[in-house]
Amino acid sequence: MSETQAVFQNRTPPKPMPHDLALRSRAARVIPGGMWGHMSAKRLPPAFPQFFKSAEGTRLTDVDGNTYIDFMCAYGPMILGYNDPDVESAVNAQQVRMGIANGPGEAMVDLAELMVEMIPAADWAMFAKNGTDATTACVSIARAATKKRKILVATGAYHGAVPWCTPWPGGVVAEDRAHLICYAYNDVASLEAAAEEAGNDLAGIIASAFRHDARVDQEMPTSQFAGAVRAMADRNNAVLILDDVRAGFRLNLGGSWEPLGVQPDLSAWSKALGNGHPIAAITGREWLREAVQNVYVTGSFWYAAAPMVAAMTTLQKLRRLDAVTHMARLGQKLRDGIADQAATHGIGIRQTGPAQMPLVLFDNDDELEKGYLFTTTALEHGVYLHPWHNMFLSAAHNTEDIDRALEGTNAGFKAVADVCG
Ligand code: PMP
Repeated sequence: MSETQAVFQNRTPPKPMPHDLALRSRAARVIPGGMWGHMSAKRLPPAFPQFFKSAEGTRLTDVDGNTYIDFMCAYGPMILGYNDPDVESAVNAQQVRMGIANGPGEAMVDLAELMVEMIPAADWAMFAKNGTDATTACVSIARAATKKRKILVATGAYHGAVPWCTPWPGGVVAEDRAHLICYAYNDVASLEAAAEEAGNDLAGIIASAFRHDARVDQEMPTSQFAGAVRAMADRNNAVLILDDVRAGFRLNLGGSWEPLGVQPDLSAWSKALGNGHPIAAITGREWLREAVQNVYVTGSFWYAAAPMVAAMTTLQKLRRLDAVTHMARLGQKLRDGIADQAATHGIGIRQTGPAQMPLVLFDNDDELEKGYLFTTTALEHGVYLHPWHNMFLSAAHNTEDIDRALEGTNAGFKAVADVCG
C-alpha cells in the first residue's frame, strides 16, 4: 500500500453516516450488491454517501443531514437547479390534469415543435425515457434507413446500458456486437480504417458530443474530425448519429456540434432535457422521416405528459436565461480558481473538456489516490465533486457557489500537498 493509500484508508469520515450505513445494509439484503449502475457509491471514496434525502437548487442533503454544493447535477439531468419552481409548477399542474393516459397530451406536439424550432438539424422529433432508448433507436433507424448493418463506434465511448453498447461484458454475447466497428475519437485515420472495414455495409457512425470517457482526459472534437465524420457518412450514404445525451443543452441549445457547423442526421437527447423528469428525445433530418416509421419503438411510459411539460419549460427557461453562457462563465471561474490553487500548491493537474462539464485529473495518479483524497477533502468541506467522471455546472450555480467550492478545492489541494509532498 502506498503512503497516500495508507493515509486515505486510515482516514475516518469526519462525520458518522449512521443512516447511510443502515440503508446500505438494508439494501444489501434485498437489492443485489446493495446498488447497481453509475450511481453506486462503491465506485467512489468511502466518505461519499449513497443515499440522499433532499435536493434544492445547487444543494444536496444526504440522509445523515450533510449538505453539499453539488457539481454532479444527478450526473447531468439537473440543469436549472433541483426542484426548479417553474418546472415543478408546470409539471404539477399537468400531473393533476393528466399524467399517463391512452395517448399523449398536447405537450408532445408542443415539445416536438419547440425542438424542431431550436435545433437546426431537427426536422422532426420523437420521445422516449432514457438516453439508452434514444441511442438504441438511432442505431435501428440508421439500419432501417440504409438497409445496411455496420455501425462505427468510438472505442471507450458510453452510449448506454443494453447489450450493443454496455461497457461491462456480463450478459453480452458476441452477436450483440457483431456489426460494430471501433474507431478512435478525433482520429480521422482510424475512422477511415473502420469505414473501409465496413465496406458497402456502413449504416451509421455514432459519435459523442465530445470525448467524455471516464478516467481519461476529455477531448473536444476537432473540426477536422467532425468534418470527416460528416463527409464519410455522406460518401457512404450512411447516417451520422450524434450522441448528445450527456452534453445536450449544456454546450449549445441547438446541438453540441452546431458551433462546428456539422449537422448530424440523428441526435439522441436525454439527461438535462426535462431538468430531472424522465424524458429522452430523438431528432432527425427529413430524409429519415420515412425510415423512422418502419422502426417499432415504444414504451409504457414514453407518452406521459408531465415530463414533456417539464422539457418544454426547461428548454424555454434555458433559452430565456442564456444558460449556456452562464454555465460556461461559471465553469471557467471554477477552472481558473482550481488552476491557480494547483499552481500555488505545486501540484500537477489536467482540467479538460468544456468548462461547463469539467474533469480534473491529477498527474501521476493512475490509482486515483490524489483524486480520491482531493474529492474526499472537498466533500468534508461541503463540496460534492467527482474524482474520475466529468462534472456538471448548472444554470442555478452562482458566483457564491463557486467561491465556496474553491474553499473546498483549496483544502483538497492542501491535503494532497501534505500527503504527497
Ligand atoms: N449516451 C451518453 C453520452 C450518456 O452519457 C448516457 C448516460 N450516461 C447514455 C447515452 C445513456 O443514457 P441513460 O443512462 O439515460 O440510458
